[in-house]
Amino acid sequence: MGRYVYLFGGGKADGDGTQKDLLGGKGAGLAEMTRLGIPVPPGFTITTEVAVDYASRGPEHGLRDEIRAEVKAALTAVESLMKRKLGGADKPLLVSVRSGARASMPGMLDTILNLGINDDVARTLAKETGNERFAFDAYRRFIMMYSDIVLHVPRAKFEEHLDAIRYEVATKKGLSASQWNKEELKRRLPDSEIPASELEKLIGIYKDIVTRETGKPFPTDPEMQLWGAVRAVFESWNNTRAKTYRKMHGIPESWGTACNVQAMVFGNLGDDSATGVAFSRNPSTGENRFFGEWLPNAQGEDVVAGIRTPLPLSRGAESAHDTDSGSSLEVKMPEVFKKLVEVRDRLEKHFRDMQDLEFTIQKGQLFLLQCRNGKRTAQAAVRMAVEMVKEGLILPKEAILRVEASSIDQLLHPALDPKAGKTLLARGLPASPGAVSGEVVFSAEDAERRSAQGIGVILVRVETSPEDVAGMKAARGVLTARGGMTSHAAVVARGMGKCCVAGCSAISVDYAEQVMLITVYEDDGTKKDTRRIKAGDVITLDGSSGSVYLGSVPTAPAALSPEFAELMVWADAARTLRVRANADTPLDARTARNFGAEGIGLCRTEHMFFDGARIPVMWEMILATTRAAREKALDKLLPFQRGDFVGIFREMKGLPVTIRLLDPPLHEFLPQESAQLEKLARDTNTPLDELKKRSVELHEFNPMLGHRGCRLAVTYPEIYEMQVRAILEAACEVAGEGLEVLPEIMIPLVITRPELDRMRELVDRVAKTVFTKTGRTVPYFFGTMIELPRAALLAGDLTTNADFFSFGTNDLTQATMGLSRDDAGKFLPVYVEQGLLPADPFQSLDVTGVGALVRHACEKARAVKSTMKLGVCGEHGGDPASIRFFHEQKLAYVSCSPFRVPIARLAAAQAALSTVAGDTTA
Ligand code: PEP
Ligand code: MG
Repeated sequence: MGRYVYLFGGGKADGDGTQKDLLGGKGAGLAEMTRLGIPVPPGFTITTEVAVDYASRGPEHGLRDEIRAEVKAALTAVESLMKRKLGGADKPLLVSVRSGARASMPGMLDTILNLGINDDVARTLAKETGNERFAFDAYRRFIMMYSDIVLHVPRAKFEEHLDAIRYEVATKKGLSASQWNKEELKRRLPDSEIPASELEKLIGIYKDIVTRETGKPFPTDPEMQLWGAVRAVFESWNNTRAKTYRKMHGIPESWGTACNVQAMVFGNLGDDSATGVAFSRNPSTGENRFFGEWLPNAQGEDVVAGIRTPLPLSRGAESAHDTDSGSSLEVKMPEVFKKLVEVRDRLEKHFRDMQDLEFTIQKGQLFLLQCRNGKRTAQAAVRMAVEMVKEGLILPKEAILRVEASSIDQLLHPALDPKAGKTLLARGLPASPGAVSGEVVFSAEDAERRSAQGIGVILVRVETSPEDVAGMKAARGVLTARGGMTSHAAVVARGMGKCCVAGCSAISVDYAEQVMLITVYEDDGTKKDTRRIKAGDVITLDGSSGSVYLGSVPTAPAALSPEFAELMVWADAARTLRVRANADTPLDARTARNFGAEGIGLCRTEHMFFDGARIPVMWEMILATTRAAREKALDKLLPFQRGDFVGIFREMKGLPVTIRLLDPPLHEFLPQESAQLEKLARDTNTPLDELKKRSVELHEFNPMLGHRGCRLAVTYPEIYEMQVRAILEAACEVAGEGLEVLPEIMIPLVITRPELDRMRELVDRVAKTVFTKTGRTVPYFFGTMIELPRAALLAGDLTTNADFFSFGTNDLTQATMGLSRDDAGKFLPVYVEQGLLPADPFQSLDVTGVGALVRHACEKARAVKSTMKLGVCGEHGGDPASIRFFHEQKLAYVSCSPFRVPIARLAAAQAALSTVAGDTTA
């Protein structure tokens, strides 16, 4: 440790704005503002290093002597700047003692105001200000705050007495206090109406409480008060709410908080005093207009407490509450307002970002107590970044780095109205963003039927399967009890841009009764209640947070601004990674193009088989026992597939389209209900028993490791033959219309070279037939997915006979980590919460494990063929942290669901810009 204490005041500061790690955000901001000549009450910051040292020595050892010596010297300096003395008999100094960590942790750490008061000081202050009420109020607030935070006497013990006195005063005033509860009474009789004599009485009572609770009198020596407060601020780093907040926001435990001791200024000295908070631009819309709230004759905590309604800062500007702008600071204190605007302009120019400010006005004089880069919504972040480029404040590349890529999801989907009241029913995984309300239905058929009647529905299932796709499409949103972030429901819903909450284990679905039961828990995990939601009841899903609410909660629609489009143009110019979309239908393809996709990286052909007329033909194919019967059914499927591919090629206008041949095990397509099986028996003239027997034969216990992917084509080559024919016939047809086409035929689940060779022979053979028959040749590429560890390990071998690889990181994660995509949701959240895994590996690539296989496969492939085209089509293709890794591996493209394409474009640009800058940790 070097020095322990950094002074600021009188236009000079030992530290500066760059020293957030050492001084904390607040300390660094105060130092920088002081240097800029902005009016800041003088003070000093005890460093985060001292906090760490204090914690590691153990609180029982207290602060080191050399630290105390530096604190005393700094205090003397502040005293001389203020011309006041802590505990002084003549002009006493009061200080605030505030926490301030490197990263903002709003409200989590402790703060003590008005420190330095005792009986004598209070009397002197009363005389000096001519305001007895002010002095006693500051004193009683201090005793309560200090006792709560330093001496651990609960606040409630003090508040009880304040409430009693309030009641007495109200009664004396002739108010009918007995009719009101405590909150109402507080509103009717604010603190400012409690006379000084009553406050003085309260101080006596407070001191007695402390003696009774702690066995010692309240400390009257201001210096002793200071040491107690400093230690309590350091110790507040370890309170439960701070720990929880750090876990939620990934803030390291080891950082510790700095401690700021600063001369008090008072916003509650009368009507020429005030306190307020401000943002240099509107933090929710981004509009370049000063935005904030203030309260005359108040201390900071009054603004937050919500008892008095804060007023707007400027004329014509809205505050959080509806109040007329005649009460704005601009109107009431025009001179001070002008100064505040000057400060705002200076700070914004200096920090080149939107600032969040706290200020106090003491007898007409303005003081700044805090500044930091303000938190903002995604919409505001985009608008500010783009406008600041236009204002010449920042460069386009800075604008790109300012907007958190994952946050723009908020802009692409409707969101819940934040002001709306809601009743939370349960929480699941935030599988696909957006916010929707609708009537509950429990089957895909009901979803289709009800929505055809014009009723918005939410499809609730234990889990979904490909059979449910049409119902999912018809529903406004999907809720499942089981399944993780890459479960069928999650992947399909994201692809459709449909809101989905998956793996919501608090619900249990009873299809027969058409109800779901929801277990509602208390915060401590004990069971509180069970609710029954029937078919037809209305619920609301928030797919961005994973929450499920009762009834219909109002939403605000998505709106993309011109600034957003402009930011994306800069992002596209900055990135090297291409962005494709996972799209299965012509409509998906169009959506993908609208979001800026540069090709299709994965067309999952199985999703095409579920539309109305097709599924019975699919059943016929699957349940066929001879090749001839299968081929007959496949012949019927061919035109459907060809039609879809024609549509997709037309939409993509010559951009590459990677089509994966059939992947899922056939049993996923089988009819579930006996009525369907009976109809099929009639339609195909097959004995029902035979069909049932075949259905049992096809059932698999571990389908993810079963008869799927290219294994299907090894046993039933005719399936892939039909698909390749459909693709290439469609390509020839579209080429015949004069449009360019670029099909890439992709084989799933390959593990050996002979498998791949067999598939290539099949594809080339069918291609030749199609080209001969149509008299037209189109270019096509042949490649494989790398989605099993063996394929990644032996990628060099597979390279020889493939034009491209696409990493299927969903299956690769599943197989590498031995985690089931559909079941891991039961325990993965606990792993993440307890720090056993840094994140859900199905959401954000396990860079060290699965990533090592990707890296190895890239190296091996490039060693054989330096130009080998490498991409990724797992869900990780839309995750910013994973995109950074793929950029570093120099992949050609990532492919993700259409609605994530803009996120991927921005994240790819950010990866490119921060890698260029040599920063690989941001
Ligand atoms: C994958 O495994 O990553 C992939 C894209 O294929 P699917 O999700 O369809 O298994
Ligand atoms: Mg896969």
